[in-house]
Amino acid sequence: MNDEQPKGSEGRSNAVSAWHGWTAVLRAHVGGRWSQAFNTLAGRITAFILAAVMTSLVTTWASVQSIQMYLQDKINTKFPAILEITATRIDDWYDQRRSDVVTFAQSRSVVTNVRQLHTGPSSKRAKEELTTYLTYVLDSFPQYRSLFILNDRGKAEFWVGDQVPISDAVRQGISTVQSEAVSDIHFIGDRYVQVISSRITDSKGKSLGSLHALFNVSVLGSLLNSERLGVSGELFIVAAEGAYLTATKSRVEGEKYGLELPSPGSSPGVHEYTNYIGEHVVGSARGVDRFDWTLVVEESYEEAFRPVVSLIWKVLAINVTIVLLFSIVAFRMSQSITRPIKELVGGALRISEGETEVMVVQKTSHEEIALLTRTFNRMAARLHRNTQQLSDSRKTVEQANTRLRSQNEELQRANEMLEQLSVTDGLTQLYNHRFFQEHLTREIGRVERTKDPLCLILIDIDNFKHLNDRFGHSAGDSVLRGVAEVLGRLVRENDVLARYGGEEFALVPSGATIEDTSMLAEKMRMSISSTEFSVDSDGDLVTAEVTVSVGVAQYQGDRPEFFNSADRALYRAKENGKDCVCVEEPKAAPVKPKRRKG
Ligand code: GH3
Ligand code: MG
Ligand code: MG
Repeated sequence: MNDEQPKGSEGRSNAVSAWHGWTAVLRAHVGGRWSQAFNTLAGRITAFILAAVMTSLVTTWASVQSIQMYLQDKINTKFPAILEITATRIDDWYDQRRSDVVTFAQSRSVVTNVRQLHTGPSSKRAKEELTTYLTYVLDSFPQYRSLFILNDRGKAEFWVGDQVPISDAVRQGISTVQSEAVSDIHFIGDRYVQVISSRITDSKGKSLGSLHALFNVSVLGSLLNSERLGVSGELFIVAAEGAYLTATKSRVEGEKYGLELPSPGSSPGVHEYTNYIGEHVVGSARGVDRFDWTLVVEESYEEAFRPVVSLIWKVLAINVTIVLLFSIVAFRMSQSITRPIKELVGGALRISEGETEVMVVQKTSHEEIALLTRTFNRMAARLHRNTQQLSDSRKTVEQANTRLRSQNEELQRANEMLEQLSVTDGLTQLYNHRFFQEHLTREIGRVERTKDPLCLILIDIDNFKHLNDRFGHSAGDSVLRGVAEVLGRLVRENDVLARYGGEEFALVPSGATIEDTSMLAEKMRMSISSTEFSVDSDGDLVTAEVTVSVGVAQYQGDRPEFFNSADRALYRAKENGKDCVCVEEPKAAPVKPKRRKG
């Protein structure tokens, strides 16, 4: 499949995967921080402002480029045109001057008077006339410094104007002119001068000498002015050796231009370079056809492109102002949005930290945020109400719980009391008959497993009927309570002492052998018989003598027999005269109590 894929789509998919790769790398290195910063409103606004700044800079750059190109085009057209016009003007000027000099040389005044210069009597008059004529010409053409006539050997025959010291060689040279000519430049004094020469001939073509007009080359300066040249522009002519001939600005004549000139003629193009005085300029050059000179036009680069600089500043100022204004507006807008949102976040945080009475107050012109704030406050108020309701409900539940707990405790106490009552004998506060039976069942069950010894003591108050009869039933009750108290003091914590019947008591001593039990029974009997029980007898307290008979038995594996044997022992104790202990065991002989009382 892949082989059949067209090349273009393969290229595209490569580009897509490369893009994903790059974005992944960017995300890995800077993406986290950037995307975090970009996720905030302030970050996004800053990014948009930066984008606006970039756009403005690009626009400025494009404008500058186009105006620079426009100015360059303008200079490219202007400079060659100025050079062309000036060169033509120079050419025309020389033509005009040559034609002037030829006209002067062939004028009747010149031809006639030159011929008569050497003819004796009329020579004086001829000299005067020549002077008049040539002085008139010199006055009429101020560009000439002097006019002079040379004979064919090069000797000066006549001279008006400045007496410029021309060398013999130059004079010889110019005197050989055929018809008319312009000489080379000659540096005489501190000026460059040139001579335009014309042969003087009579009507038959015979040479009478030559007429010469000498002028400073600097007069060409008047031809160099151009309206199209700016204030900073300069036009100048440089001789072959590089010396200034003349210039639109004040230059020292003869001073060397020094640097290589923009190549004349070869390219009429405009060049950018640093000129003789170190100025950054744009310039163009062309040759002057007639001589080996160069005509140069130059303009300061800064001046030429001043509109660009001013445009840069203007566009930058406008753009910076606009961006600044927009930034301030955007910043204020973002603040007017983020500040209330921060307030809301603060409120939400306070709620999350447990505060319930939260209210966000803010003045905002954004309807959406005002709505959000109102909704937030409604939500917070409802939360507050619900929390309060919840708190009230919790209090009610807690109160109900407390009540329930105390009722439960009361109930438990009542139950415990009931339970206690259900196993307690009301008169003596000892265990009752039922509990004793249950306890005995448990004990029998236990010793059946452990094979521990289990013994039973049955106690019966002697002659109780008689005591009742003598002192009354309540005195009997009091004696019953007294006997229970005395017996209770003799038992251990785990022993179960119960009121078994009317004036009968039963005890199962915990973990005691028959010997221990017999001794305990004896101890009980003696304690009762030695205790003085006070009873009320017709309003007087009298001492009632109370004794008990005790039967002791050991469990032999049969519950009814266990009880019967104890009962039999008790019976035997009664039979034996009461106030004694009998132990029901095979070998046990009844113990005869030592009677202490009556
Ligand atoms: P013996 O020495 O043979 O035991 O003679 P006794 O008088 O104690 O024997 P009997 O069993 O005939 O009499 C028990 C008496 O105990 C009968 C009854 O009036 C009395 N009695 C039973 N229960 C109570 C009671 O709760 N209070 C009082 N005051 N007397 C009771
Ligand atoms: Mg009895
Ligand atoms: Mg009795």
